[in-house]
Amino acid sequence: LVEIVSANRDLPAETEDGIAISLQINAGLNADHQHENLGPFEGIGLYRTEIPFMMRERFPTEKEQYQLYKQILKSCRDKPVVMRTLDVGGDKPLPYFPIQEENPFLGWRGIRMTLDHPEIFLVQVRAMLRANVGLHNLQILLPMISTVDEVEEATRLINQAYFEVRNELVQTNPNLDFKRPLVGVMIEVPALLYQLDAIAPKVDFFSVGTNDLTQYMLAVDRNNPRVASLYDTLNPGMLHALQHIIQRCTELRKPVSVCGEMAGDPGGAILLVAMGYRSLSMSTHNLDKIRWILRHLDSKMLQVLLTQVMSSTHPDQVRRLLRIKLEGLG
Ligand code: PEP
Ligand code: MG
Repeated sequence: LVEIVSANRDLPAETEDGIAISLQINAGLNADHQHENLGPFEGIGLYRTEIPFMMRERFPTEKEQYQLYKQILKSCRDKPVVMRTLDVGGDKPLPYFPIQEENPFLGWRGIRMTLDHPEIFLVQVRAMLRANVGLHNLQILLPMISTVDEVEEATRLINQAYFEVRNELVQTNPNLDFKRPLVGVMIEVPALLYQLDAIAPKVDFFSVGTNDLTQYMLAVDRNNPRVASLYDTLNPGMLHALQHIIQRCTELRKPVSVCGEMAGDPGGAILLVAMGYRSLSMSTHNLDKIRWILRHLDSKMLQVLLTQVMSSTHPDQVRRLLRIKLEGLG
């Protein structure tokens, strides 16, 4: 099977009846080493910037961040790289910036922390914008958004960084080709489901973080083994949430992709494509497998499956349907 899957690796990611799915990779370290032996992919759909922050003893300087981001943007030339602004707190501590809280997952994490420390946010965005000069493949993604205010404030800071950096750079290069990157928001807090209309006009794209969305939809700590059996992306509540998101984003004509683990899971990817998602970002080790599966699907079969799945009342029923489908593919 491994051989059949790798034999498919240079073929396009599309269903049997020609529906193209954009496959991207999730990255967090020196991404240039990670994609050496991969089949085709359309970019980095999620670059987790907190990982290099977590591996140091202090906040990296603007210059250090610039060098790192430049290397990553260069390694993906011509393909978009979605860099997420610092998402620490929750289960991602910074050794040199301790946050003590009783409920870290409901606390000061992601955009909440960086908006309270605009100096951290601005340095990071400035480094990203400078790294993007001459490459133009940067996109910026905001984590843990739960209010329109946060989107407005983060956008205001991104614009401030943009004008600062532009004014600095045009002094030495008056013809500088400097573009504002696309800015997107992660959908990982359930309240966002009912604020898509208000947020859509303010952003360029959405990206669904199914890891946190599952945790918050189901009120289940994603790392607590005691409740691990309840942490289930196939819970009907979760599936209806995902369907709502793709339907609303399609109506609003706002691009939306999925970057949580569900996108790299065979059953999860099938369901997402059946719902209408056309852009999936996953760990590199899932890329060939998911491409192979997509090439064995067709829209009619997906519609039948989706109808059965969406009328299921138990996650185990959904799992059974997916298992039968996957076994049928070989
Ligand atoms: C997610 O929450 O699904 C996600 C992609 O972000 P992270 O796993 O880094 O929290
Ligand atoms: Mg998340």
